[in-house]
Amino acid sequence: MRKIQMVDLQTQYEKIKEEVNAGIQEVIDNAAFINGPQVKTFAKELASYNKSKYAITCGNGTDALQISMMAFDFQPGDEVIVPAFTYVATVEVIALLKLKPVFIDVTADTFQMDVNQLRGKITPKTVAIVPVHLFGQCSNMDRIMEIANEYGLKVIEDTAQAIGARYTFENQSVAMAGAIGDIGITSFFPSKNLGCFGDGGAMFTNDDVLGQRLQMIANHGQKQKYYHDSIGVNSRLDTVQAAVLLVKLNYLDDYSSARSKVAENYDRAFEGHANIIAPSRVKNSTHVFHQYTLKIEDADRDELKTYLADNGVPSMVYYPVPVHLQNAYTGYGYKEGDFPIAESLCKKVLSLPIHTEMKSEDQDYIIETIKRFF
Ligand SMILES: *Cc1c(COP(=O)(O)O)cnc(C)c1O
Repeated sequence: MRKIQMVDLQTQYEKIKEEVNAGIQEVIDNAAFINGPQVKTFAKELASYNKSKYAITCGNGTDALQISMMAFDFQPGDEVIVPAFTYVATVEVIALLKLKPVFIDVTADTFQMDVNQLRGKITPKTVAIVPVHLFGQCSNMDRIMEIANEYGLKVIEDTAQAIGARYTFENQSVAMAGAIGDIGITSFFPSKNLGCFGDGGAMFTNDDVLGQRLQMIANHGQKQKYYHDSIGVNSRLDTVQAAVLLVKLNYLDDYSSARSKVAENYDRAFEGHANIIAPSRVKNSTHVFHQYTLKIEDADRDELKTYLADNGVPSMVYYPVPVHLQNAYTGYGYKEGDFPIAESLCKKVLSLPIHTEMKSEDQDYIIETIKRFF
């Protein structure tokens, strides 16, 4: 029996092996390893999937965030509003570009940016808001776009965990995650919902000028080879990864449904449990369940985690420390107590195995083991 894993990429690969291998072989046969035709084709298909005018591929999700921030005329010291409860990459690029991360707390039920606190974070130096569609569902994009438009702020959606999620606005129009703000970014890290066999990332935009700028910055700031109009970076999706992604993109919606089924089984199993709070759904967004994240109440989360590990059930804490309390970010002057929800979530959350190949007997065993702990 194969061990239960957080994510089962081997079994997923087995099912698409022939298609993927043929795609990779073609790249090798043609030896166009950098900027081969598959990269362009994938970018086109990705844009079409995401209902965005442009998708610009790059080396990874962190680069995608950085290139996005570079595409605007932000000045050192300008402020960017970002949730305290996120993966560090979102904040790292803000700091690297000498912008100032201004943290905002999240809501205790959906883990998304608390839009009720948003206006209070805006100062004359604010230039952008970076909503993170954490764990696979969208932040409240109605309020975020409304406030951004009112104050003339840019919006960069971090869609690294939510590719394929759909957001329904209050006026009933629908958009894909990452196609709502000025720019949306995603990551093709292997365990992401659309993962490749190495690193990869992409940026989405509907704006012609931004589309060109993103492409240019990702490619050493050049439009024409050896003529550099701006300072850029070297960040490319390689052709082998594009070939893999071309195959996997066709399965992305199936993968999302498979994850949803696993999530619904967990929901049913934990309903009404005194110590286990299943993840709440954002009203206006579908959930693609990059993570299925419980809150453990009135019990020791870390003891549960150890108990599960001892019984062959992996689990993960995303994230154990909020970004404002990470050693690297103490220089911004935040302290314990500043973002109480983010801080308390770090003590309570526990993400369970969820992936496209979950066997029902494995899931039954996971559920049974969790319940046995209490
Ligand atoms: C994975 C992730 C990133 C970074 O993506 P990489 O491809 O690993 O650089 C950024 N933001 C969030 C929320 C992520 O989950």
